[in-house]
Amino acid sequence: MSAMVNEPAAGADRVRAEIDLAAVAHNVRLLRRITHPRARLLVAVKADGYGHGAVAVARTALAHGATDLGVAHLAEGLVLRRQGISAPILIFGHTPPQWADQMFTNNLTPTVFSTAAARVLSAAARRTGRRLPVHVKIDTGMGRLGFMCDALRPTGSPSAVAELLETARLPGIDLQGIFTHFATADQSDLRSAQRQLDRFLDLLDQLERAGLSVALKHAANSGAILQMPAAHLDMVRAGIAVYGLPPSREVVSPEIDLQPVMSLKAPVIHLKTVPAGTSISYGGTYTTPRATRIATIPVGYADGYRRSLSNRGHMLVRGYRAPIVGRVCMDLTMIDVGEIPEVAVGDEVVIMGRQRDQAIDAGDLADLLDTIHYEVVSAITARVPRCYATAVPPD
Ligand SMILES: *Cc1c(COP(=O)(O)O)cnc(C)c1O
Repeated sequence: MSAMVNEPAAGADRVRAEIDLAAVAHNVRLLRRITHPRARLLVAVKADGYGHGAVAVARTALAHGATDLGVAHLAEGLVLRRQGISAPILIFGHTPPQWADQMFTNNLTPTVFSTAAARVLSAAARRTGRRLPVHVKIDTGMGRLGFMCDALRPTGSPSAVAELLETARLPGIDLQGIFTHFATADQSDLRSAQRQLDRFLDLLDQLERAGLSVALKHAANSGAILQMPAAHLDMVRAGIAVYGLPPSREVVSPEIDLQPVMSLKAPVIHLKTVPAGTSISYGGTYTTPRATRIATIPVGYADGYRRSLSNRGHMLVRGYRAPIVGRVCMDLTMIDVGEIPEVAVGDEVVIMGRQRDQAIDAGDLADLLDTIHYEVVSAITARVPRCYATAVPPD
């Protein structure tokens, strides 16, 4: 017997992340509708589903039109398999070849981005007597991972086609997919992304002529799904849009009605009336200019609510915006509620999300923090319980 007597429900007393799975279902259906009907729909659930919870997001996405999942590394794929998820899983990042066994046992597909790595994987696969399905990644201008396409190679280097043919012919390697990744598909100026697409299509063409046709050709992230239909090919890879966030401020259109999935909420746990001249929080960076009321909220930088929001951000209480006063602490943050009538201990505070006609979205927080909304949601730490609205029945 466990000793779970009187254990409080996670999230009852502190900040919690509410995850709206109906919004995930809505966003995936929307992406399915605008994606080329022939293309598979991979949903990126790396970084614990961009902070939303990879397992719940994966299950919901698969029930509403997703066919494949993408993760950054092996351990993230194992989490999904251990929860009984059987859809194809592509590992985008580096998988050390000594883990080839794990890939076979758990049916995970690694990405290969050099002939050297392919040779080691080939040797590992041969020891098991089986062929390992892999996707190869092509660098067409992102400058991160991949076999460089010819346009990016120093003169005199072997051609991309030569290297890829060598890789495809390695025993134990089953080349099932080939992909590239855009650096700027979330911008309104798509010339550079189009150049990347042209390089990729040109390489595919050369491979075909050399007798190598790969079953699954893919390129599009959320930005390209929304803006570059010609990049949909055999599969698209959706991340941020699944979580209800537009890829960037430049890619917002009224037809694309994405619904944000994550909200952050916490109760007011303490409230006090103070005179003018009261110092608030570490460092004494804020002093009340007049008599007011200060509410203490159980969220802090150890929850991923960044300290640089000190004296800058807002939270929503009773449908009003209350400014953060003083420094954000590890576990607690203070807001000034002097202008808001009838605030009481226990009131629900919305840290990110909607309350009545007010909203603070991940993009607003990102602007204050000089970053992007991807970082805001994926930086919410494991201490914050993810609370799921009821699962949505499959379509
Ligand atoms: C994360 C990721 C995606 C998804 O990108 P979004 O901009 O979130 O849609 C697609 N492909 C790869 C390789 C990724 O790492």
